Amino acid sequence: MSADRRPVRVRIAPSPTGFLHVGNVRAALFNWLFARRHGGVFIIRIDDTDLARSEDHYIADVVEGFRWLGLDWDEGVEVGGPHGTYFQSDRFDRYQEVTDQLIEAGRAYHDFRTVEELEGLRARARAEKKPPGYYIRRPADSDPEADRLRIRRGEKAVVRFSGPGKSVVFNDLVRGKVRFEADAIDDFVILRSDGSPTYHLASTVDDIDYRISHVARGEDLLSSTPKHMLITEALGGEHPEYAHLPLLFGPDGRKLSKRHGDTSLRSYREGGFLPEAVFNYMSLLGWSLDPEREVFDRAETIDAFDLADVQKSPAVFDPQKLAWMNGVYIRMMGTGAFADQSVQAAEADLDRTLTEDEKGRLRDIAPLVQERTKLIIEIGPAVRFLFDDISYDEKAWRKVMKGDAARALGAAQEALKEVEEWNPEPIERALRAMLEAEALSARKGFQPIRVAISGSNISPPLFESLAALPQNVALQRIAAAIRLLAEAPA
Ligand code: GLU
Repeated sequence: MSADRRPVRVRIAPSPTGFLHVGNVRAALFNWLFARRHGGVFIIRIDDTDLARSEDHYIADVVEGFRWLGLDWDEGVEVGGPHGTYFQSDRFDRYQEVTDQLIEAGRAYHDFRTVEELEGLRARARAEKKPPGYYIRRPADSDPEADRLRIRRGEKAVVRFSGPGKSVVFNDLVRGKVRFEADAIDDFVILRSDGSPTYHLASTVDDIDYRISHVARGEDLLSSTPKHMLITEALGGEHPEYAHLPLLFGPDGRKLSKRHGDTSLRSYREGGFLPEAVFNYMSLLGWSLDPEREVFDRAETIDAFDLADVQKSPAVFDPQKLAWMNGVYIRMMGTGAFADQSVQAAEADLDRTLTEDEKGRLRDIAPLVQERTKLIIEIGPAVRFLFDDISYDEKAWRKVMKGDAARALGAAQEALKEVEEWNPEPIERALRAMLEAEALSARKGFQPIRVAISGSNISPPLFESLAALPQNVALQRIAAAIRLLAEAPA
């Protein structure tokens, strides 16, 4: 395909007016994969023409987000490159220059009409069931020389691109042949009356200047593409190939929005997700490597990816499925790597460093935590009982601290006192003998112990949890629960 024709240069162009959104992340990922597959260049451009709404911390969020996901870029924000800063706000002179050039060539004109006049033209189009911009064309008396004078005298006007009155047809890599009729393409604004460029102008000029070979972006921008192609043609630029990626839907089949939960990458970054899992999951939003297999690594994805294989139908973004995949990735981690993560997570959770002894105890139990963890943020709370005084989960306490609980705890205390080698097997032997002697079921006999030592009824397995605590601490906690139960039975 055309990837052989031009060196592959692709871009993602977020507007820093909000946190990086999963839709943008998916588009970035597909561009990145395409660039890496073809040995091309991946660029991050910052579309900050809306100066009032662009904020620095959103730019930082973009940079941190892509770094976290491992989408390295070859040109653009922070890394620079041959095209300046890659911030649109630094290129207003260039957009002005191009606008002048288009006016000069008769492809654009100043429009001094008032809001009311334009609304009148739109109303007329509506009444005649024509496209809204049908009558907003170059006024008959438009004269570039006279217009320039009026601007110099301080009058305000927008600049519109002058539609050539022909349809635009192109071959979209995802959607196939796409056609826009001339009537449906209005004389769109390229420069606002304050001199700022619109998205159509700035994006197209940048795509030309940066020699972008392929534009892969969300399908919501499909109707912008004929406009960009007309500008490109008028400027004698080379058209990139276009690939419009399917929209993202929520699991309920509706367009992805706030209603489906948090959709910023940041929330996943901070919510205990692994970048590898997010990478893998996002690659499946509109593409698949193999219908039989959902889990594959970065290298496999790069080797197999092609924009031409992206599906047309909407893709479903399901946070629960992503959490499931994150669990799969957590279980694929090496034991050592997971133990390191656990130390980090526990230290962050406790807001202090762990002693060597504490680290050792955590490492012993980490493999059991690993089997039960879906999100990295679950680790801290799950192992907190190993290091800090516990507080009881009220529901868990009410559920198990009744009936035979006091008897089970008393018997467990006696049995555990006698354990000489404080390891899971001897602990298990002692407690099973206790069950037998007290004629208690495992549930009735063990659940109170679990709550007594961890505060919760969902800790890692009991014998290992006990062994991960110093023996005296385990015994003190059981004694404390017995006391509490005697004072205030549930
Ligand atoms: N700044 C635009 C956006 O974030 C870029 C769209 C494009 O890729 O052309 O939607």
